Amino acid sequence: MKLLLCGYCKDVRALDVSETTTCCCGKTSARYRDDRWHADIWGDDCILLGLENADVYPLLAARDAAEGERRAAELVAQPSSHAQAHYHGGKRK
Ligand SMILES: [Zn+2]
Repeated sequence: MKLLLCGYCKDVRALDVSETTTCCCGKTSARYRDDRWHADIWGDDCILLGLENADVYPLLAARDAAEGERRAAELVAQPSSHAQAHYHGGKRK
């Protein structure tokens, strides 16, 4: 699962598989490519985050966890050199 993080407004949104995802301030956006593996990212303040799909299920079960029990997952920021992240800078045209 890929998520869009806007460094300007700090909004985090999961990428939608069928349309462009834009942060709440509109300065950053991202979209999966047709292969649903690579993503195009627009915006100078945008960071693409990666979350392993298998890590989502323990988080979904967190509602039923005992008080004080932690459910955690690793989020990874994808640098501009990452093979799945295609940063374009500027606003999406
Ligand atoms: Zn924003």
